[in-house]
Amino acid sequence: MHKCDVVIVGGGPAGAAAAISCAQSGLEVTVLEGSISGDRPGESLHPGIEPLLDQLGIGERIRQSHFLRHEGVWVEWGDDRRFLPFGSDENGPWRGYQAWRSEFDAMLMDEAVAHGVRIMRGCSADMPLLEGQRVAGVTTSKGEIRSSWVFDCSGRRHWLARKLKLRIQRHSPRLFVQYGYVSGTGPNRDEMPVMVGDSTGWTWKAEVKPNLYQWTRLIFGNTAKWDPEWRPYEFRDLEPVYASGADMTWRIVRESAGPGYWILGDAASVLDPASSHGVQKAIMSGMMAGHCLTGITQGRHGESLAIEAYKRWQYEWFLRDAEQLRSRYSNLSPSLFPTYENL
Ligand SMILES: Cc1cc2nc3c(=O)[nH]c(=O)nc-3n(C[C@H](O)[C@H](O)[C@H](O)COP(=O)(O)OP(=O)(O)OC[C@H]3O[C@@H](n4cnc5c(N)ncnc54)[C@H](O)[C@@H]3O)c2cc1C
Repeated sequence: MHKCDVVIVGGGPAGAAAAISCAQSGLEVTVLEGSISGDRPGESLHPGIEPLLDQLGIGERIRQSHFLRHEGVWVEWGDDRRFLPFGSDENGPWRGYQAWRSEFDAMLMDEAVAHGVRIMRGCSADMPLLEGQRVAGVTTSKGEIRSSWVFDCSGRRHWLARKLKLRIQRHSPRLFVQYGYVSGTGPNRDEMPVMVGDSTGWTWKAEVKPNLYQWTRLIFGNTAKWDPEWRPYEFRDLEPVYASGADMTWRIVRESAGPGYWILGDAASVLDPASSHGVQKAIMSGMMAGHCLTGITQGRHGESLAIEAYKRWQYEWFLRDAEQLRSRYSNLSPSLFPTYENL
């Protein structure tokens, strides 16, 4: 049996950001990461993420990396086609990143290790340990870990919410995405990502590494079936590398914090990738939960006050984002996404 202040389930952006934030305040942290490979979608990062990465200590490393950069996104939404730049200042245009996730997540984890965080790779959380109503650790594939707090950063399968039977509230019709990677010499257009929406859904296409392209397709409605052969027309002649699918129904765990536990990133709430900042949100929730916990351990506020503030922050942010997506989709599919005025 092992003991620590905080055990974090999942070593993605939410888990790594939380680990760094807690360790910066002197807490003893263990991260459990179940998978070995670390490859997953979610490469496109808005330049607005840079100040967060600076605070976590990896901003310079990211700027020096070989990740592809882009100045904005082409959007074809119904009849409207335009280039949306991220913005600019006296140093020139702001540029986002195509951050290959296994490399990006590894940079964050290296920083956590540099702060003394213990990482257990290939180690999955199985069940939360309970002391009365309080979560007090986890059982894992490698034994039991006792801790004062458990952070669930396990991603969109909602490990802790399912184990504690917490309600997961849906805010959209069922939404399913297919996504894939193709390699080869790309289509003849500029290197900026493209988002194309019509009444059936939308498709995202981006070059994520030289000669490697990612596409994501979201289909509106309940009847979506994953066709493993499908890919965007302009990628038909490229070599398929990998394809998969995911349930991206907008959803939130309302009790995203409670006695002894905090739920972060996708484990707390999911919006489909058109919300365009899943990674940024995961990082912010890691920093926010770390901040709340530091306040508790340093006696600045009580646990119940911090829990309520965190839950409110999660919920209000989620509702704002969901509302923005709904109003964008209502132009394309008003029957599935009625705005409040049309209800
Ligand atoms: C097709 C697609 C495209 C996307 N594109 C973008 C994009 O371009 N930009 C963007 O910002 N976001 C994008 N997203 C969303 C983004 O991927 C997520 O929002 C982000 O990865 C969430 O980070 P997280 O740390 O909460 O969870 P994750 O990144 O999912 O990390 C969870 C970690 O927990 C581990 N884990 C799970 N269960 C256990 C367990 N029981 N024990 C131990 N470890 C466990 C997993 O192995 C994983 O490493 C996309 C999502 C999809 C599906």
